[in-house]
Amino acid sequence: MADAAPITLRDLAEIDVGRLNGVGAKRRQSLADVGIYSLLDLMTTYPRRWVDRSNEARISDLDVGAEALVLATVRTVRKRTMRNRRTMVTANVGDGSGRMDVVFFNQPWRAKQLTEGLQVALFGKADTYRGGLQMTNPVVDLIGDRTGRIVPIYPQSDKAQLNTWEIAGWVEEALRRCAERGIADPVPDALRQRLGLIGRYDALRGIHLPDSMSVKDQARRRLAFDELLRVQLVLVVRKRAMERLARAVQHDTERGLVQRFVDALPYSLTAAQARTIDEIAADLGSSASMHRLLQGDVGAGKTVVAVAAMLTAVQGGHQGALMAPTEVLAEQHSAGVADLLEGFVVPDSNLFGERPLRVELLTNRVTGAERKEVLAGLADGSVDVAIGTHALIQDAVDFASLGVVVVDEQHRFGVEQRAALRDKSAGQAVPDTLVMTATPIPRTAAMTVYGDLDVSVLDELPPGRTPIVTHWANGPLEEQAVWTEVRDEVAVGRQAYVVCPLIDESEKLEVASAEETYQRLAGDELEGLRLGLLHGRMTSSEKDDTMSAFRAGDLDVLVATTVIEVGVDVPNATVMVILDADRFGIAQLHQLRGRVGRGAHASTCWLVTQQLDEPNPRVDALVATTDGFELAEVDLELRGEGTLMSGAQKGRSDLKLASLRRDRPMVETARKVAFEIVDDDPELAGHPVLADELDLLFSDRDEAFLSRG
Ligand code: ADP
Ligand code: MG
Repeated sequence: MADAAPITLRDLAEIDVGRLNGVGAKRRQSLADVGIYSLLDLMTTYPRRWVDRSNEARISDLDVGAEALVLATVRTVRKRTMRNRRTMVTANVGDGSGRMDVVFFNQPWRAKQLTEGLQVALFGKADTYRGGLQMTNPVVDLIGDRTGRIVPIYPQSDKAQLNTWEIAGWVEEALRRCAERGIADPVPDALRQRLGLIGRYDALRGIHLPDSMSVKDQARRRLAFDELLRVQLVLVVRKRAMERLARAVQHDTERGLVQRFVDALPYSLTAAQARTIDEIAADLGSSASMHRLLQGDVGAGKTVVAVAAMLTAVQGGHQGALMAPTEVLAEQHSAGVADLLEGFVVPDSNLFGERPLRVELLTNRVTGAERKEVLAGLADGSVDVAIGTHALIQDAVDFASLGVVVVDEQHRFGVEQRAALRDKSAGQAVPDTLVMTATPIPRTAAMTVYGDLDVSVLDELPPGRTPIVTHWANGPLEEQAVWTEVRDEVAVGRQAYVVCPLIDESEKLEVASAEETYQRLAGDELEGLRLGLLHGRMTSSEKDDTMSAFRAGDLDVLVATTVIEVGVDVPNATVMVILDADRFGIAQLHQLRGRVGRGAHASTCWLVTQQLDEPNPRVDALVATTDGFELAEVDLELRGEGTLMSGAQKGRSDLKLASLRRDRPMVETARKVAFEIVDDDPELAGHPVLADELDLLFSDRDEAFLSRG
C-alpha cells in the first residue's frame, strides 16, 4: 500500500505547518516570516545549541571566576540608563538553592525578553559584586517548559514572536506523526553500515530530541553527511554528464606554436607551469571538453599558462578568448599578451602562406570603426586571440570558431556571464574552458564549490622573488614610521603604493576618500615626492596615463583605491601601504600585497589601522604568512560555517549542519561515495529517493551556481 511507504522529504515539503496542533493562522504567519512553511522546513530548522541539564550547577554552588550553566527562574527585571547613555538591565534569578543578579550592558531588549517567571538557561562566569553573586552578559537561552535532559535551543526571532520551546513542541509533534511510517532513507543500508551512519529517522529525532549529547553528535554526523552527499551528487552527475555529452574540439596539440611560444620566453617555465600546461594539453587533445580550474597565487605566472592554452586552439585554426573582470585588467592583459605574442605567425588558410598572429582587445571602450573591425575579425576568424571584458559575451559578438576560453579572476564573474561565453559556440562544439583564480581555495572548499571542475595548482613562484615582509602599524604613531620608510625607499629609487580605505558600497565616497588621502599625503607626510592618484571614477585614458607614468618611474607613489587589487605589475614597486587594513578581507589584503614583491628587491607591506586595542585576526594572519593557501584556510576558519551559495542564493540546498572546515574528511568521503554511486548508476535510476531529494532541494539556479563555480 503506497500510504504505508516511508515518508520522503518531498512528502514533508508538501505538508503545511498549519496542520500541526497549535499552529493557527497567527503562528503560521510567524513561521512564514522566518521561512518555515512546510514540515520539511520545520524539521530542517535545527537547534542552534543544546543545553545539557546534566551539567547544570546550582546557584549556591557556583564558583567565582568559573564558567557554569545555571537553570533558573526570572524573579525581577530592572532597566536603567547610565550617565554615558549606556543601558543596564539587571535580572534577579533564582533556582531554589539561591539567587543572583544577571547584568546586561547595552542590551536594552533584555528587559522585554526576560519576563517574570520565565525559565532560562544561563551560561557565563560568576563573579561577586557588593557581596552578592552576579553574572555579566551571560549567554541566555529561554527554555520555557521543556523537560528532558537535553533541551534544544532553536534560532529565535523576537520579531516573528516565536520562541524556542514552541518550535521544539511542533518539531516533536511532527516527528511523532512520522514515527509510524518512518522516514525514507536514501542512503543504501550497506553504505550506511560501512560509514557507520545512523538511519534518517533516528538522526532527525536525535538532532531535535536527543537523550544525550553523543546521540546528538551521531545525528549531526548523519545529517551533515546527507547535505554533503547531495551537493557532491549534483556536481558529480553533472561532471560525468559533461564528460559524456559535450563534444569538444579535439585540439591539435602537436603543431608547435605552443612550443615556439615557450621557447621564446625570456625565462624558463617553473615546474608547476610546465606541469599545468601539460595537464591542459591533455584535456585539449581529448574529445571531452575541458572544465579546468587553475589556482595560482598572485605572481605565480598564470598568464603564460593561459596564453599557452589559447595558442593550442590557435594552432589548430581556432580562436582563443581571455575574459578579465575589469577594463583596466583587460587592457593590461591585452598589452601584455600582445607583447608575448609579438612576431608569431599562423598559417593563413586563404593564401596557403603565413600571416601574423592577431590579438585584439574588446571592451566597451573599444567603439566605432575600431569595434566594427574587431567584431568582423572575430566573426571571420582573422582575430586569433581576443581579450576583453564581459563585452566579449554580448549578443552582437560572433566568433568564427571559439576553441578555448580563459576566464581570469573568476570570483568577479557571474555564473550567467561564463555560461553565456560558453554558449557563444551555439551549434558547434563547446569551447574548452579554463577558469583562473588567484584566490587560493582550500582543498575541501574547492571540492565542493568547484566539484565539477578539474583542478590544476600553480604551487610554486618563479625564482628570484624575495619574500614580502609584512608589518602591522597600529595607530598614528606607528603610521608615521611607515611614511618614513616610504620616503627611504623612494630615496633609493623604489616606488610605493598607498591603498585608501575601503568604503562599502559607495564608489563615490571611496573616490572622495582617495582624493583626501592624496591631498593629505601630498601636503604633509609625503610632501615633495611625485604622487599619482588612481581610482575607479577616472576616465580610462586618465587611468592609463597614471599607470604608465608609474610604470615608467615618473611617479614615486601611487595613491589608489582597490582598482589596483588585481593584476597590476610594476617590479620596481617595493612598498605597499594599506590604510584601514582591518576593513579589508583576508583575500583582498593578500591580493593587494601581491602587487609588490614582483621584482628582485626586498618588499614590505604595511597594514595600517587606527589604534586598535585588540589584535585583529585578519591582520595577524597576513603578518604571519604570505602563503595564499594557508591564508585561505584561516579565512574559511574565521568566516565560520561555509555557505555554498553566495548570500543571495541561500536556500534549501545550503549546508545547515555540515561545515567545510570541521567536516573536511566527510567532504572527501561524500565525494568518493558520490562517484561510486554515479559511476555505477549515472542517472540514479536505482536511487529514486535520492534522485527525488536532489530534484526537490536544488533549484536549477543552485545547480548552475555549483557547477560553474
Ligand atoms: P599571476 O599568476 O599573478 O597572473 P603573472 O602571470 O602576471 O602572474 O606573472 C607574474 C610575473 O612573473 C610576470 O612579470 C611574469 O612575466 C613573470 N613570470 C611568469 N612566469 C615566470 C617564470 N617561469 N620565470 C620568471 N618569471 C616569470
Ligand atoms: Mg594575473
